Amino acid sequence: MELKDLYRDVILDHNRHPRNFGRLEGADAHAEGHNPLCGDRLTLSVKLAGDRIEDIRFEGKGCAISTASASLMSEAVKGKDRDTVRRLFDSVHALLTEQDAAPGAELGKLAALSGVREFPARVKCASLCWHTLNAALERGSAPTVTTEVPDEVPSDLASRLVGEPQ
Ligand code: ZN
Repeated sequence: MELKDLYRDVILDHNRHPRNFGRLEGADAHAEGHNPLCGDRLTLSVKLAGDRIEDIRFEGKGCAISTASASLMSEAVKGKDRDTVRRLFDSVHALLTEQDAAPGAELGKLAALSGVREFPARVKCASLCWHTLNAALERGSAPTVTTEVPDEVPSDLASRLVGEPQ
C-alpha cells in the first residue's frame, strides 16, 4: 500500500467515525470556529488539568477534511500540555503549507494531512480546528474564530470560559 493511500484511508476513516465527537460535560473552555470559504463550523470544548488538556470534544458540521482534521487533532492533543500543543500546531501548519516539509515523527497520524497541501483551497478546512483550539486555550481571544480574519484578535474579547472560579 502506498503512503498516499494510507493517508487517504486515515482521513476517510476519521471522517466516517470521528473520534471525541460530541459535547463535553464540565468543560473549562469552549470556542467556535467557522471557515466561510467552505462552510465548515465546529465547536470545541476542552477540559483542562493545570496546563494540560485532560479531555477534548468537538461537534459541528463540515467537509471531510475539516471533520477528519478535528478528529485527528483531538486524539493528538489529549493529555498534552500547552507548549506541546503549540509545537504540534507549528508542525501541522508547516505540513499543510510547505510543499516539501517532511512529516516529523511528533505528528504521528496527523501526517495523513500532508496530502491537503496539494489542494490549497482546503488548507483552511484542515487548520480551522487548530485555530479554534488556540482560541479555546488562550484567554483574550474571540469565542468565534474565522479563517477570514487575521490571527490577532482584540484582547478585550475574552474567550468564553465556563466553570471559572468566582
Ligand atoms: Zn471544508
